[in-house]
Amino acid sequence: MVQSEWQRRIARAEELSAQYSFAAEILRFYVAIARFQEEFYAELETSSAEANGVAPDSEPFARALPPELTVRFGTFLSVVEQNGPRPLQEAARELRGAGRNSHLQLLTAFWNGSDPGALQPGPGDFFPRAFLQPYAASTRTSANMLWNGPTPYLCPFCKRKPGLGVLRPVGEGGQRSLVCSFCLAEWEFRRIVCPGCGEENHAKLPVCTAEELKHVRVEACDSCRTYIKTVDLTKSGRAEPIVDEMASIPLDLWAQKQGYTKLQFNLMQF
Ligand SMILES: [Zn+2]
Ligand SMILES: [Zn+2]
Repeated sequence: MVQSEWQRRIARAEELSAQYSFAAEILRFYVAIARFQEEFYAELETSSAEANGVAPDSEPFARALPPELTVRFGTFLSVVEQNGPRPLQEAARELRGAGRNSHLQLLTAFWNGSDPGALQPGPGDFFPRAFLQPYAASTRTSANMLWNGPTPYLCPFCKRKPGLGVLRPVGEGGQRSLVCSFCLAEWEFRRIVCPGCGEENHAKLPVCTAEELKHVRVEACDSCRTYIKTVDLTKSGRAEPIVDEMASIPLDLWAQKQGYTKLQFNLMQF
């Protein structure tokens, strides 16, 4: 049976949560979130297949969020209440009490990119990002969006920052691509360029790895002082980039101790 992308992520998170004690709690929570996301994505794909024949939208990310999404948001809040770390459980309970109109407001502000709370880690970012991620991924795939322009610094589809890099084996080496922190699109990006500021000077772009996590690299920039982690599939063919990025917490702690700021924190707000 062919596994879907979400199923592969779930399986990998289960595998790594048994292996990395430092990430076990986060990965177990991620598994619960990803199971919800998988189901939600499948529903959205079914309804967009039924809507086939409707003229494709050239700017699907500029479309307003359908208010009926808030029905599913209630299910998502229950998942967080049952599986999340305590502060998120409490935030979920509070949100449940706030009602549908305020849910739609929260989701719409994030979708439009107009919510300042989304710029810093915390519940204000977590809830809309994690809930809307399958919707964003489905919006991109059902509109058949393709990209062949010059390599952009932001996601060519939803215009969010990349959350991680991936090195895929090509010939003798690896081709780097970036993965969107929201809609999970992947686009090719030159290897020796900072995705934060465009720095191209090799000497200003240090790369670090750790003994226990050889397949994850910290790619930092001494010009803008940001970093991004890149999952090297030439070193581990079993890795699932989004999950391995999330699991390699010690590298974040190390990079932040060196004074670098992460270009974009991940779904787990790290
Ligand atoms: Zn995107
Ligand atoms: Zn930079």
